[in-house]
Amino acid sequence: MQHDVLLELKDVRRSYQSGNSMVEVLHGINLTVRRGEMVAIIGPSGSGKSTLMNIIGCLDNPTSGSYKVMGKDTLNMLPDDLAALRRDFFGFIFQRYHLLGHLCARENVQVPAVYAGVRKSKRDQRANELLGNLGLSERVEYRPAQLSGGQQQRVSIARALMNGGQIILADEPTGALDTKSGQDVMRTLQELNAKGHTIIIVTHDPRIASCARRVISIEDGAIKSDTINEQVPDPFALQEQGEQDKKPTINNMWSRSLSSHIDRFKEAFVMAYRAMLANRMRTLLTMLGIIIGIMAVVSVVALARGASERIISNIASMGTNTITVYPGERMGDVRSGRVRSLTPRDLVALQGQPFVDSVSASVQTNSLVRRGAEESNATVQGVSLDLFRVYGLLLKDGRIFNAQEIDARSQVCVIDDNTAKLFFSTEDPLGKNIIVGNVSVRIIGVLEPTDSFVIRGENPTVFMPYTSVMTRILNQNYLSSIVLRINDGFSAPVAESAIKSILTSRHGRVDFFLQSSDTIMKSIEEATMTFTLMISAIAVISLVVGGIGVMNIMLVSVTERTREIGIRMAVGARQADILAQFLIEAVMVCMLGGLMGVLLSYVVGQIIMYMVPTIVLSYSIDSIIAAVLTSSAIGIAFGFMPARSASRLNPIEALARE
Ligand code: ADP
Ligand code: MG
Repeated sequence: MQHDVLLELKDVRRSYQSGNSMVEVLHGINLTVRRGEMVAIIGPSGSGKSTLMNIIGCLDNPTSGSYKVMGKDTLNMLPDDLAALRRDFFGFIFQRYHLLGHLCARENVQVPAVYAGVRKSKRDQRANELLGNLGLSERVEYRPAQLSGGQQQRVSIARALMNGGQIILADEPTGALDTKSGQDVMRTLQELNAKGHTIIIVTHDPRIASCARRVISIEDGAIKSDTINEQVPDPFALQEQGEQDKKPTINNMWSRSLSSHIDRFKEAFVMAYRAMLANRMRTLLTMLGIIIGIMAVVSVVALARGASERIISNIASMGTNTITVYPGERMGDVRSGRVRSLTPRDLVALQGQPFVDSVSASVQTNSLVRRGAEESNATVQGVSLDLFRVYGLLLKDGRIFNAQEIDARSQVCVIDDNTAKLFFSTEDPLGKNIIVGNVSVRIIGVLEPTDSFVIRGENPTVFMPYTSVMTRILNQNYLSSIVLRINDGFSAPVAESAIKSILTSRHGRVDFFLQSSDTIMKSIEEATMTFTLMISAIAVISLVVGGIGVMNIMLVSVTERTREIGIRMAVGARQADILAQFLIEAVMVCMLGGLMGVLLSYVVGQIIMYMVPTIVLSYSIDSIIAAVLTSSAIGIAFGFMPARSASRLNPIEALARE
């Protein structure tokens, strides 16, 4: 019976760059390994055994010569094809075990099957089984640091068997172990060989080599001898005695399913999550830039939205068809308070116009208000009836003054909630008198607490007929402003130009300016727009800075975890698997940072609103979604470079790194 040739090396050479010259370490190795063999490669330190082993295991490529695995030349294989061979056919056992420190024994054993896309339940079952067979059923939850050297090496044997381990490559597997543990490992390998696994062991110890039937001695990068140790029974002899059943052909364990991609992706998430957990402090520091950036942006946007919503709702309460006339030349004119151009006669003139629905007047002053021994400064608002509605003021009690009282300059007033609290803590204010300036005024109404802009915070405000304020308190004949409500069917611009021409002809010059809710809305929209653009610019800068921080830490993380990457590659991770792992980690860090930023902004906002009630933050779902999406995008953008450099590492160099 012809035995299958599994591995075939022809004139394999390997040179290393040393300074400016190339140093050849392997000088034309010719070697054939058949299915079911147990081969020991023996030679002094530095003779090139590990170099040869790495080439056999497809971790490294020969500089020249050909290497065939099951008849297929590896020369033209892509990195992922080589990864597939490592994953599906080879099982590595290293001198230093090379287990992943943050995973327990069972998880370490499963890593090759994760990359093969095997479902978790199946993986768990097989890993437990393998560990159980190796006498580690009590230790499946232990991490490498909690295991002895011999136990760790058994975990790594189980890992080598996870996907089948048709060919087991052991580079000085007993090198770091005491004699007893070393003997256990060798016995295990012999048992595996008896079960049909092809085994290649590298060693410098002749006693270890004597466990194998075939011993290849290597010196200075060349094979010196290739002998059969007759003391070890020939496994093929057994096979020919008709015991094939006991020596099943080892094949890849797993059948592929469509869901294997999803399983791999899920596993990449878990790995990224665990890596984040394993480095909590670093993860948090990485996120900090993103957290602060997102928090600042979300808060400022909420603040701007809150402010503009409030102003807009105030304006909306005025109605869209009102126009206000102010004295002075423009908004913010410093002389505005001293300009006396608007008079009650203007009011009458405007009242007669067909486009006018109603005209209201207002005057304001500050005055001392007294009741008994109690006194306080208050704002006195002289208003027409309409203005209660325009300002969005609601009565809690009593009534507002009527037209006759305005005409009669009656000494009546409506007080706000602040005034009521100040002067009438327990009593009912209705019908009582207060002294405004020197005038005694009867209270006929009390307002609901309100956030209307006419009442500034805690400031007590008293509303009186504007006629009473002008004649009895201020002794003046001019108004602070005139508010017109336009009839339906007339457009605001038409009404505005009509008002302008009427007042200009009456006054002889333009000593007033108009403001409609439209113009206010427009200027608010413009201001908000500018504000938003400015914030966006700052946001972009701060997030780029945060992203660079993430990239920086990811690069450090890749460097720090180079050995982990090497191990993952040695057991069969594809480049895409490594890329995905690090990219997912970067995105998760950023996304989590973004979410924490949003949350923090919300918490801080609630605290600020509680402490300063006049500040309103309005959070929109849009801005929160945008923040989280942006931070994820940052993760992808800035995580890609480090992740790609991780995925392109050379497995051998990565493994050698400490
Ligand atoms: P062994 O495993 O038999 O002890 P190795 O295969 O590790 O020997 O090394 C064989 C020779 O190749 C040594 O002289 C070593 O210095 C050299 N060598 C191994 N790896 C590298 C490398 N990455 N770069 C340069 N020289 C190397
Ligand atoms: Mg070595």
